[in-house]
Amino acid sequence: MPIRDFFRRDARDDGAQSVALPTAPASEVTVEPTPAGGPEAVPPHPRSRFSPRAWIRPRDVPADLWVRCGNERCRDLIYTREFEKNLRVCQKCHHHARLTARERLGQLLDEASFREEDGGLRPGDPLGFVSAGQPYGEKLIESQSKSGMPEAIICGTGLLEEVPLRIAVADFSFMGASMGSVVGEKVARAVEHSIEDRLPLLAVCSSGGARMHEGIFSLMQMAKTSAALAQLAEARVLFICLLSDPTTGGVTASFAGLGDVMLAEPGALVGFAGPRVIEQITKQKLPPGTQRAEFQLEHGMVDKVVHRRDLRPTIARLLRLYGSQPVAAGWKGD
Ligand SMILES: [Zn+2]
Repeated sequence: MPIRDFFRRDARDDGAQSVALPTAPASEVTVEPTPAGGPEAVPPHPRSRFSPRAWIRPRDVPADLWVRCGNERCRDLIYTREFEKNLRVCQKCHHHARLTARERLGQLLDEASFREEDGGLRPGDPLGFVSAGQPYGEKLIESQSKSGMPEAIICGTGLLEEVPLRIAVADFSFMGASMGSVVGEKVARAVEHSIEDRLPLLAVCSSGGARMHEGIFSLMQMAKTSAALAQLAEARVLFICLLSDPTTGGVTASFAGLGDVMLAEPGALVGFAGPRVIEQITKQKLPPGTQRAEFQLEHGMVDKVVHRRDLRPTIARLLRLYGSQPVAAGWKGD
């Protein structure tokens, strides 16, 4: 039984109990005399039933045992182990929760096949930027310690159903996966590596856009990554984009919009400016579902909306269709 129904039933029972209590006028209630010096007589409860609240104490329940679905219209309670088994997708409404870069790599690639590239690149603070009273340098240190990553993207090589590929995965939990100079540089280098070794490139995109803390240096990354991808297209190497929730701003306007094959996860927000900003500027109400992956599929920006459980077979099939072959076990990314 789903836990929500479980607690609902419990709440309903509580209500029933309160309704079932005696409501007769005081004059009609017979009061049993209490024996002198004896224990006070306790009338039997009208519906004495087992209640889990009597023995489940809040401190007995681990805080991470249940997660709540991120979909505002669902908000279902999901058993964490089931949620993880289901690739962090709600079984009831199929809402795809956001993943960290490492979770994504773990879901997409064959076990222990990932080899990181250019992991030593570190961001700088060329403008001495201060935002909301916090220097950019401090914000970076805070984000790095929270996420355990030096920047908002991880690049490297790996196997997907034994087919080798190069992969770049953005992590929205690191400053909204905004594109600063290191993100742009890592994407550009991944493209250059793919031109050299002709490995197909998969970019798992997710971003709030360009990183304002780096000013013009972040905007330059749009041109840099786009120019590098033009060279990849000339070299006739496959580039697949997987758009996850949310992919917006300068990232949509550069490398995330340039895939030979454009895939998206169901319900992902994909667009340049967010719907709220568009509504404020145009003073018009946008139709429901605007800028979602399904909307972009109908309007030609996305080739296919793929459920998370189907991502691995779909991408593997695409790689094989474009000529990649599975490799023998023990491949080390060379
Ligand atoms: Zn849900």
